[in-house]
Amino acid sequence: MPTPSTGAGGGALQAGGSGAVTAAVGRGNPKSVGYLTTPPSKWDPCTTIRYRVNLTGAPKGAAADVDTAIARIAAASGLRFQKVGTTSVVPGSKGKDVLDDYPSGTDLVVAFARPNNPAKARRSAYLTGGADTVGVGGAFYDLDTARAGTRSWHRIVQGYVVLDRTKSMPSGFGAGNTTGLIGTWGQVLMHELGHVVGLDHPKISDPAQIMYPATTRKPAVWGAGDLVGLKTVGKPSGCFSSASGAMTALTVPTAQKQPNDAAVRVLPRSGH
Ligand SMILES: [Zn+2]
Repeated sequence: MPTPSTGAGGGALQAGGSGAVTAAVGRGNPKSVGYLTTPPSKWDPCTTIRYRVNLTGAPKGAAADVDTAIARIAAASGLRFQKVGTTSVVPGSKGKDVLDDYPSGTDLVVAFARPNNPAKARRSAYLTGGADTVGVGGAFYDLDTARAGTRSWHRIVQGYVVLDRTKSMPSGFGAGNTTGLIGTWGQVLMHELGHVVGLDHPKISDPAQIMYPATTRKPAVWGAGDLVGLKTVGKPSGCFSSASGAMTALTVPTAQKQPNDAAVRVLPRSGH
């Protein structure tokens, strides 16, 4: 799967000597990064995030886009993901801020849904952001903090991505259309997955970042701030010292959705 290519404003940093290491440097401001909670929330990098997809009514190319976006966030964060299959679950069908009943052994569901679907089980409470919301991503985390590496964190126990399948955007990770909605499904997926691993919209307005709160016409590659954030919540941040897995059930009663909703907006193209 492709890994993020280097942005035009950046370049490749090469460490000299044998076995040179190449690190991607994204565009924009490396300080353009935000975290969903204080202290930040993150998955345990020593576990594998097992995901399922709900492709009912999904746009063409969606399956490949999901897998590519997952591969990209895995590459940038060092977090491990594993696809465990499909599901009919639509996150948010039980309401906002309510943990969904995922199939056993599932930590994350990526679903394409239709707003106001008359079938309640297929309707997501997250897709109520209005006509300009194309997707929502987020995570439930343990209210108690836990140590990992040199600091305390909230541990993420479940993640979700819900995309409005009625929106008309091209698949893939390119620049997108020049008319109609701005953006690509790939860009939206990367953005929502950023929320899933604990990132928020940057406090600095920086359209070069994938975590910028609206889609843009940039090709979908992580920006400088995105990369800082993904590293911060990723493998380099260290593992939780206590065992996880069985923790999930225990944490359910105290788990809480991140407080600020995490929708990405699509902007209509005005034609000029
Ligand atoms: Zn967002």
